[in-house]
Amino acid sequence: MAGVAGALAFDPAWSVARFAYYSLLALQHRGQEEACLYVSDGERIEWVCGKGFVDEVLPQATKLGGWAAIGGVWSTSPGYHAYVEEPSEVAVVLDGRLFNADPREVAARLAELKSQGLEGGELLKELLKGIKGAFSMLALTASGELLAYRSPPGLRPLQLGGFGFDMAVFASESSAFDVIGADLKKDLDPGKGFYASQLLFEEVEVAPSNKVVCAFEYIYNARPDSVIDGVEVYQIREEIGKRLAQLYPKDVDVVVGVPETAIPFAIGYAKEAKKDYRLGFVATGRKARTAIKPDLMERVVGVQLKLNPIRSTFRRKRALIIDDSVVRGLTLKTVIQTLKNKVGAVSVDVLIGSPKLVSHCPYGVEVPPADQLIAAQMSNEEIAKYIGAKSIDWLPPEELEKMLPLKVCMGCFTGRYPL
Ligand code: SF4
Repeated sequence: MAGVAGALAFDPAWSVARFAYYSLLALQHRGQEEACLYVSDGERIEWVCGKGFVDEVLPQATKLGGWAAIGGVWSTSPGYHAYVEEPSEVAVVLDGRLFNADPREVAARLAELKSQGLEGGELLKELLKGIKGAFSMLALTASGELLAYRSPPGLRPLQLGGFGFDMAVFASESSAFDVIGADLKKDLDPGKGFYASQLLFEEVEVAPSNKVVCAFEYIYNARPDSVIDGVEVYQIREEIGKRLAQLYPKDVDVVVGVPETAIPFAIGYAKEAKKDYRLGFVATGRKARTAIKPDLMERVVGVQLKLNPIRSTFRRKRALIIDDSVVRGLTLKTVIQTLKNKVGAVSVDVLIGSPKLVSHCPYGVEVPPADQLIAAQMSNEEIAKYIGAKSIDWLPPEELEKMLPLKVCMGCFTGRYPL
């Protein structure tokens, strides 16, 4: 998974690196392994890239002068981005997957097209000719042009925002605009892009589109304060919690959402079921996302660091834990062991705000293959026993489809993919 952000000021007196930096900070949850920021001052591109969190890797990038910038955060290292110097200087950052090229080939083609003097909408169209994939892309040239594109059918988000009349900004999620004081203008239509320079700002149709968005964005990927393709993420999560309460009434004393992503589900459940909602855990250190941590040891340590239980919430209580999704079940197993063995919970029921993850994601989200997904391998009873829960249930896939007012990809929940 990745988050991308970019900014272009229409007045060369602006320095935009700081805006792109804070946008990337707001997108940190979309990738915690690598971060990059490329800045153009109209003559050349300077950049900072490195492994780690935005505020570890990129602070020095905020000192780079220039009025156009693009950057990204990635949950894998190396991240999906490229910089090419010859025959002209360009950089490309991507969220998603290219099927028939790699980021370096895309950057090399852009460098070639620039050396031939192409610009405007023609540049974007020529760049993307024949390139297939499920991706969102930002590209930057040394002369300070910014290209943005969301491939059809729109499985990876990308949005346009504005900062008064001074700046055009792009980001994977609207919360990145909120933190820099910009306004969300629109979600890019899949198959369309923008060419932005100080002289021209043009929307360009590259390919026809039949919009199908990623359902997992609304469950896990996106921040709850984001609005993606017109849908408020928090609202959907609370509605899912309410639906879970109707489908799975539980005789419990307390409802808790864990991890933080799952809190809106728990609030919705508790509201609907008229149960006591409590804060259950306090995070230590950074909010590392364990489901997308690459290595087993890091996942275990990540769980311990981020989830310290509040004892009074659970002591002598029958608890309902609501999680957003289950990959390997390791986080839940660790949490439930702690609640029962150390904190004195009487019992723990579990509900999951997503349908069962049963298949990989071929579009750049780190959902592993079926043989590593616990819900693809075991029955509900077996999983409950393995994690130490009294019961475990999931949101049925058809319920999620009904709730989202958009055509959605459900590939990792059903094994049926739109591309
Ligand atoms: S397979 Fe899952 S994670 Fe991948 S795009 Fe589809 S819904 Fe999103």
